[in-house]
Order: sequence, then C-alpha cells, then structure tokens
Amino acid sequence: MIVCPVCGCRQRDGLLCRACTRELDRDLAAVPGLLAELDTTLAKLARTAPPGPGGLALERTGYHAGASTAKTRLTTVLTAWAAGTGHRTWYATTAAAALRADLPALRAHPQADKLHREITGAVDHARRVIGGDHAAVIDVGPCPDCDARVTAHIPADDHCAAWMECGGTPAHRWDTHQWYRAGRRIRAAAEWHRQRRASA
Ligand SMILES: [Zn+2]
Ligand SMILES: [Zn+2]
Repeated sequence: MIVCPVCGCRQRDGLLCRACTRELDRDLAAVPGLLAELDTTLAKLARTAPPGPGGLALERTGYHAGASTAKTRLTTVLTAWAAGTGHRTWYATTAAAALRADLPALRAHPQADKLHREITGAVDHARRVIGGDHAAVIDVGPCPDCDARVTAHIPADDHCAAWMECGGTPAHRWDTHQWYRAGRRIRAAAEWHRQRRASA
C-alpha cells in the first residue's frame, strides 16, 4: 500500500492518490481562464486608477499589486515545474498544458507533495484575488526575503483571518500574529531599497 503524501489516504499506486491528482488536474485546467481574468483586472485597473493620494486610489493600487502578484506567482510556479519535467516555456498556459499532459507520470514524482502544494496554492491565490472576496488588498512593501512585493489581504468575511504574502515565493507568508515582526523587516527592506536608489 502507498500513502498519498498530500492527504494521507492509502492506495495501490501513486504517489498522489486519484482524488489529489484530480484536484491538480482541475486546477491546471483552470489556469488559462484565471490568467485571462487577472489580465482583465490589471487592464481595467490601469485604465481606471488615477495616480494620486486618497484611500480609493490606494486601494486600487493594492488590488493591482494583488493581481500582478497572483499572476507572477502562477507563472513562476508553473514554468518552474514544467521546466523540471523537460518543458521549457515562459508561459503559464503552455506550462499548465504540458503539466496536465504529464499528470499520469507526475503522480509518481518524488516531490509530488511539493508540486501539489505549490500549484494548488498558486491557483487558490489567483482565485482569491479574482474572487472579490476581499475587503481590501494592500500593497505593503518589498519582501525582506526575495525581490517580490508583499501585499496584505483582508478578507470580506469577518471569520476569515487576514494574511500578508509576497508574490515571489509561496513560503513568504505571514499570519496576523507575525505582522509586527514582518512589518519591521519590510520597513527595513524598503529603507534599504530607498538608500540603494539614492546612491545609484
Ligand atoms: Zn491524496
Ligand atoms: Zn518573498
């Protein structure tokens, strides 16, 4: 018997069980639609968001950063896994199609759990950004651990906790109890970028 590394269910072949493989397949199939929606969001905001001070403009900037973060993460994750299985491409849609075609083999990938976690995580993230279930998405500053931007996500549902994450690395994510320390590190990163720009 083989234990699925994602959900822990027992099965005859694997590694990933059939349910987790189906979930991955469904998420990969959703990628072209999600990317189109993210592009629409970005284009619409670019047209309607006037640069300037004020809460509304700031909020739009946040949504813009959220959508572009989601797009970057989706593209980075999918092209990296596609490259790892021999498909070199810059495009998330091509990468998603290649990975889908490879799913029967990918089920047995030695890092199948990481593959599942990263891909479903990036797709969920894109869905949340598009879904409009946010009260606000706020552009916080540069990630202290990589080159991406950090956005804070405040869900519309009071029972859902807020979180901050960067667009480059899925592991760079902070729950609210970590915000104080993360905030200080983000401020330090912003200051470092400012000084570097000033001396350039
Ligand atoms: Zn499973
Ligand atoms: Zn980061």
